[in-house]
Amino acid sequence: MPTGLPDIRNTRFFPNLFGLPHDHYFDEREGSYYSVTKDARTRKFNVRPSRHWCFLAEIVEYVSWGVRPMFKAKDSTGIIFLVAFHFDVTRLFEKVLQKGLVGRTICVMYACFHAFMDGQIGVKLEEPKNVKILPLSIEALVMASKTFRGDHGNSEHCAYCRRPATQRCSSCSTILYCSKLCQVQAWEGHKKECTAMSQMKEWNHFDWERYDVHRGFQSIV
Ligand SMILES: [Zn+2]
Ligand SMILES: [Zn+2]
Repeated sequence: MPTGLPDIRNTRFFPNLFGLPHDHYFDEREGSYYSVTKDARTRKFNVRPSRHWCFLAEIVEYVSWGVRPMFKAKDSTGIIFLVAFHFDVTRLFEKVLQKGLVGRTICVMYACFHAFMDGQIGVKLEEPKNVKILPLSIEALVMASKTFRGDHGNSEHCAYCRRPATQRCSSCSTILYCSKLCQVQAWEGHKKECTAMSQMKEWNHFDWERYDVHRGFQSIV
């Protein structure tokens, strides 16, 4: 299956914390993320992403500290760091926080490495449109992406009863069912990966190597 969605283990598009560009100074990493142009008229420099990237951070703990909601999170290498929300998440938290965010993965488009004032490191979330919380661990996300990309071969079988199937899940377009009944039976088990696969379907629609427009998210959850 030809796909625009890169392998989510590919650190060019899904970098680890230490692979992210820094938000305060420029080093050699930045060249791989941004293009700098000079406006001939104003002579000002213009910095914009040269491609797309998404940082994946799995929430491991809620940090009750300060005025902003913060979480300890880990990337796919297992390093633990801070994720700080700098926008109003009151509504999000009513809906989501009680259910618990631990074990879920935060996706951050165009994320930058941040050094906090108290010496901790992590990412600062400032633009709600760049943030999405998926109901899966990073490991489960990798599994879902393999299925989505057809890395296990494209299954022609019902995801529930394994009989030959032709009907596709209308949300993610990935999983097959032989009947409405099987779709209903399988939904409880498929629900979370379906949310992740639906996101992958969106990620699959553009060229990650080319920054044409800002690629954010429709909603945070
Ligand atoms: Zn079936
Ligand atoms: Zn689905």
